[in-house]
Amino acid sequence: MKVAVNGYGTIGRRVAEAIRLQRDMTLVGVTKATPDYKAHLAIANGISIYALDERGVEKFSQAGIEVSGNLEDLVKKADVIVDCTPGDVGRTYLHRYKGRKAIFQGGEAADVAETSFVAQCNFNNSIGKERVRVVSCNTTSICRVLHSLDMNFGVRRARAVIARRAADPEEVGRGLIDAVVLDPVDIPSHHAADVKTVLPNIDIVTMAMKIPTTHMHVHSLMVSLKKPATTLQVLDTLEATPRMMLAGKSEGFKSTANIVEYAREMGRRRADIYESVIWRDSVKADGDEVYLYMAVHQEAIVVPENIDAIRAVMGASSAEESIRETNRTLGIKDV
Ligand code: NAD
Repeated sequence: MKVAVNGYGTIGRRVAEAIRLQRDMTLVGVTKATPDYKAHLAIANGISIYALDERGVEKFSQAGIEVSGNLEDLVKKADVIVDCTPGDVGRTYLHRYKGRKAIFQGGEAADVAETSFVAQCNFNNSIGKERVRVVSCNTTSICRVLHSLDMNFGVRRARAVIARRAADPEEVGRGLIDAVVLDPVDIPSHHAADVKTVLPNIDIVTMAMKIPTTHMHVHSLMVSLKKPATTLQVLDTLEATPRMMLAGKSEGFKSTANIVEYAREMGRRRADIYESVIWRDSVKADGDEVYLYMAVHQEAIVVPENIDAIRAVMGASSAEESIRETNRTLGIKDV
């Protein structure tokens, strides 16, 4: 499968790299808006760069970087375009991707695509589709957990309070903040409706606030089940769910800092954490109520989802095969 990435930022760089790890995919190129050090590094790593338009080609040329063409040239070479442009920009490219499969990100409204996607929840809905949207980092993680609990115990309703990182580490213009910002003040936050684009039958309310950190989001999740469960049963279920990492306090996991440090020590590229990280000791089942804390690495969690979405739109493999192969290439533990 020939895959192009439009937008080489936080998500685009990671998705491009993950594509290059897949035996069944070729990265035909990425677009780059500015001829900065990231463009030089991409070329040094053998990635073909395309400017957005002819003016961009000129700009790169003046900076001493020869690009391989413009976006139009890149689209012609690809079977699938993964749009990783900033939120709401992807929609403006819809007509440019015509005739090619396109994957969009969670910053786009759901109607940019025919369906929204989380691999382990609804891979089959995207098979053969022209346009698919990988949902946001927070939505991806909530969907993974709720889908698993729903399959095993039935979910009557879910409530989540999301403490969101204020900005990504590189976004010096957006943060840090010296405040807790209710974002949004209104309840529910948009995450609840987004979860329903993947799990339409879940009764969910979400609340969200921004906190002064750049590394991860933390969710407090409260779920009412259709049948009672023990803490051990819920833990066993989560352990057996793909793309979960259970972190214990006795192993030293007491904050997001420990999780980031763990990823660094593991040698994960960019200290990326693709898994939903659940504090094992926080998981409590009390009759039909379940409580837990979960951390989400916003820069990385959607990367495996994008790889699986490519296979889904191309009808290239089953959900199980794709998830297993993506996990293998990214070093995610299989269950
Ligand atoms: P980003 O700002 O880091 O990267 C966007 C890239 O697109 C930049 O390299 C920018 O130069 C380029 N760009 C800007 N305008 C463009 C245009 N008109 N055409 C082509 N390229 C253009 O953004 P990001 O964080 O990678 O987010 C990309 C998408 O992924 C958004 O929809 C976002 O909501 C979603 N997402 C982001 C995160 C996150 O935490 N960063 C997590 C999950 C999903």
